[in-house]
Amino acid sequence: MSRRNGLIICISGPSGAGKGTVLGLVRDMFPGMGTSISVTTRQPRGTEQEGVEYFFRTKDEFEQMIADGEILEYDTYVGNYYGTPAAYLRRLSSEGTDCMLDLTVAGSIALKKIFGRDALTIFLMPPSLEVLEERLRGRGTETEDKIRSRLSQAEAEMKRVDEFDYTVVNDDLDRAVEEVRNLILKKQEENS
Ligand code: ADP
Ligand code: 5GP
Repeated sequence: MSRRNGLIICISGPSGAGKGTVLGLVRDMFPGMGTSISVTTRQPRGTEQEGVEYFFRTKDEFEQMIADGEILEYDTYVGNYYGTPAAYLRRLSSEGTDCMLDLTVAGSIALKKIFGRDALTIFLMPPSLEVLEERLRGRGTETEDKIRSRLSQAEAEMKRVDEFDYTVVNDDLDRAVEEVRNLILKKQEENS
């Protein structure tokens, strides 16, 4: 029997802030950390594969999953649905396995409401909007149109930073990773 429920570690922040990069590095520091694979209606990018980065579904399929209660929380982001499958995350939590998720601002706040003290919400902040734009362009995954939409969404998301447990500025990558690691260690200790 586990001493506590698994932690639901939610990271949000504007597209290009470095969520994927930071999560990947932090995950390597916590062997046994779980991952929730989200469902989305957006098209796969480049090398993305079904069931690895996301479960890719049509809008109708996604709406059916909502109707069937299979989605714990969902949000629309730049014209597409993104949602967290309910059964898997609930199972990890009840088994005592900590799990890290990369979510929209509304998604993190929704999971905090559901999981309460078992959730840890972290807002990853870019050093500035200029740097954010450079990173988003540098990543080379989005068309100009999509970059514009993601940047305008970024400004709205950054206004909700106060609703998070913690904010981490992703200027120096190693420092940001260390800070996220320490917040997780502290929460694990608090909930034990
Ligand atoms: P997100 O998942 O938030 O959209 P990514 O993790 O894809 O962001 O990062 C966006 C781009 O910025 C990537 O090309 C990544 O390599 C780069 N990046 C991430 N963190 C840093 C950092 N601290 N300094 C410089 N570049 C970074
Ligand atoms: P991307 O298209 O760059 O993979 O993701 C776009 C946005 O969707 C990111 O901000 C990411 O955090 C968010 N996202 C991914 N999966 C989920 C999810 O299951 N729920 C919510 N609310 N947001 C998600």
